[in-house]
Amino acid sequence: MEKLDRPTSTTGPAEWFTGDVSFEALVPMDGRAQGRCNVVHFAPGARTAWHRHVNGQCLHVTEGTCLTQSRGDSVVIARTGDTVWCPPGEWHWHGAAPDTHMTHLAMWDGLADGQTGPETEWGDHVTDDEYRSPATA
Ligand code: MN
Repeated sequence: MEKLDRPTSTTGPAEWFTGDVSFEALVPMDGRAQGRCNVVHFAPGARTAWHRHVNGQCLHVTEGTCLTQSRGDSVVIARTGDTVWCPPGEWHWHGAAPDTHMTHLAMWDGLADGQTGPETEWGDHVTDDEYRSPATA
């Protein structure tokens, strides 16, 4: 058993995010574990760019209100305590509602032995029109 150092905060790169985003990686990324878990903090209105995860991703909202959308679907609202599963290869984005800070855990699997990457593929930024499109509960 090893108690790990407190994770350092990384600023979300502008090519992957709109607005103020920071995250901490909770699981060592050095090959000891295949699972990933990041705590991700979004300022009001901040969101990821469109992206997809080769092995899918689970999001668990720990604070605030999350908006998330898969390509071709309506925006989904996820509130504190809600959990969302995004299937492998599905283009999507996630972020804070316009009027709240939001924090979620993002959990996904790294590449398996022999699996070709990338773990996450990034696309276009989410436009204001896409961000403001109607939501379903
Ligand atoms: Mn994602």
